[in-house]
Amino acid sequence: MKEITVTRPSLPPMDEYINEIKSIWETRCLTNTGDKHIRLQAELAKYLDAENAELLSSGHAALELTMEALGLEGEVITTPFTFASTANAIVRRGLTPVFCDIKPDNFTIDPSKIEELITEKTSAILPVHVYGNICDTDEIERIAEKHGLRVIYDAAHAFGVKYKGKGVGSFGDVSCFSFHATKVFNTVEGGAVTFRDSAFGEKIRKLKNFGLCGGEDTDTAGCNAKMNEFSAAMGLCNLRHIDEEIKKRKAAAEGYLAALEGVKGIKLPECTADTEHNYIYFPALFDETKFGAGRDEVFKALKENGIYARKYFYPLTSNLKCFKGKYRGKTPTAEYVSERILSLPMYSSLSQEDIDRVCAVILKCKK
Ligand SMILES: *Cc1c(COP(=O)(O)O)cnc(C)c1O
Repeated sequence: MKEITVTRPSLPPMDEYINEIKSIWETRCLTNTGDKHIRLQAELAKYLDAENAELLSSGHAALELTMEALGLEGEVITTPFTFASTANAIVRRGLTPVFCDIKPDNFTIDPSKIEELITEKTSAILPVHVYGNICDTDEIERIAEKHGLRVIYDAAHAFGVKYKGKGVGSFGDVSCFSFHATKVFNTVEGGAVTFRDSAFGEKIRKLKNFGLCGGEDTDTAGCNAKMNEFSAAMGLCNLRHIDEEIKKRKAAAEGYLAALEGVKGIKLPECTADTEHNYIYFPALFDETKFGAGRDEVFKALKENGIYARKYFYPLTSNLKCFKGKYRGKTPTAEYVSERILSLPMYSSLSQEDIDRVCAVILKCKK
């Protein structure tokens, strides 16, 4: 039985990548803002509709360095319905996460629950564009402005998404992207920030390169979060194929929808007129009282059939071993979703045959 994994990294044609990296053997420039880094950074800023972009070594580094460059202190309001990285980054910066609940329709932060969590210690809001669903940016940014708070979006899921006609890199003070192998666009490992303020860019450039300030001296205790030329070359190649990548994912999502839409007790991703989606994941929410089987039962049945779905996001970051019981915020909707959500296999080379197999197992669980 052929195994179906939850994700499968995209690669450009091998020849194209080899062609792209050939010049490195002449220049011997392997890293430290080489030609490929410069080109990719400019192309990404354009693609993401951002005034400025700065490439980094990972999405996690983007989150940590952003909070450092903005000089955040005290508390950061975020959601627990995300990958560990979001909360980890806040805590690793010596900040305190405060957990806000999510909306039941698209699983992003619920703006109507933010203000009650703001105290005099709050310095920023860090919402997540979950599964490529864009947060309620207008409302979040209105609240932030009213209270003098920064807005940093964790946009790791949202590469290439357009919302209300705007690219995802145009929102908030800063947006943080991940180019990890499993994301819609990858540089093997890598990440970036998009932003408006050029002074912020100066700080990020310094922080990602040990704090070096021109000559030999450093004026900030920076780290190393630079993207190397081999990763940037992978990015240049993958960016040429990004439209095709998203188109294939869309076809896979349509395959799932055709088989599962209308089945009682399964909530599927909704298309909204204001969003051009990237189809990064295909999350299905199982309501046991209506479907007859719960998420864990479906997960197990799939596994027994060689299909590896992922309980994503479960557990909530507020329930991770290192954080449980430590921080403020009641999040009943996030709890509800986290117990019932399952990310089904989703990648551009997923075949209709594979989708049929996944859906057949799911529908057999129905009681
Ligand atoms: C992938 C991911 C990250 C971390 O990105 P890396 O590039 O793996 O460091 C952060 N937040 C979310 C929501 C992610 O999905």
